[in-house]
Amino acid sequence: MRVVFVGPPGVGKGTQAQRLAERRGMVKISTGDVLREAVRQGTPLGVRAKAFMDAGSLVPDDLVIGMLSERLAGDDTARGCLLDGFPRTIAQAEALEKMLARRGEALDLVVAFEADHEVIVDRLSGRRSCPRCGKVYHVRFDPSPAGARCGGCGAELVQREDDREATIRRRLKVYEEETAPLLAYYRDRGLLVQVDGTAPIDAVAARVDEALNAPRPA
Ligand code: ADP
Ligand code: ADP
Ligand code: ZN
Repeated sequence: MRVVFVGPPGVGKGTQAQRLAERRGMVKISTGDVLREAVRQGTPLGVRAKAFMDAGSLVPDDLVIGMLSERLAGDDTARGCLLDGFPRTIAQAEALEKMLARRGEALDLVVAFEADHEVIVDRLSGRRSCPRCGKVYHVRFDPSPAGARCGGCGAELVQREDDREATIRRRLKVYEEETAPLLAYYRDRGLLVQVDGTAPIDAVAARVDEALNAPRPA
């Protein structure tokens, strides 16, 4: 299956993507993780992307589309993939459609997670991330079994630079302006399923499974 997760920052896309990929053995591509890794390694892409990410803006379409198209060219995605955080603009959605069409493929489902701003600010301010393996925790809602360290790999957890209040507000605005139009775009194509992101993690996961088991929504 080819599935896209879309939704405002902090709604739980990454958490659900991580769990779904584990449950179903799907190949997961989180563009935020790929970009942060590029920044960490100081690649040309990372050098260009960093300022946008720090400001809470989107990285320009041409950079992100180029990056995703390279990643999708890998053999491991031939049988399907889970895209977390891509597309985030209509231009990216159109580029994705073309990339897949060239290989005789298409998206099966777009899951749109929803939550209001208050929930999101609470989620993002308590988020802790593993800089080594990308696992995500929450100080109250999903604490690491290893305390201040990652339960997966043992690295020390960090608060992301862009998970601070001013940048959070900026990212929410960017979401409303640039990403939210994707909902109508995918609804028109009959691909959209909306999921309440405010429920507990396991309840959201069950709802995602339900959506995947009925791949073509009305
Ligand atoms: P969150 O899920 O908290 O919104 P991500 O980890 O998905 O954050 O993304 C972090 C940052 O990486 C974004 O604020 C943006 O700068 C950049 N980014 C990630 N995916 C994309 C994309 N598809 N297009 C443009 N920028 C992106
Ligand atoms: P996104 O990828 O959409 O930015 P994350 O998956 O990183 O969001 O989740 C944001 C924060 O909220 C993380 O700290 C995560 O542990 C926590 N979280 C995710 N889903 C839930 C949920 N259903 N209930 C409570 N907290 C959650
Ligand atoms: Zn880790």
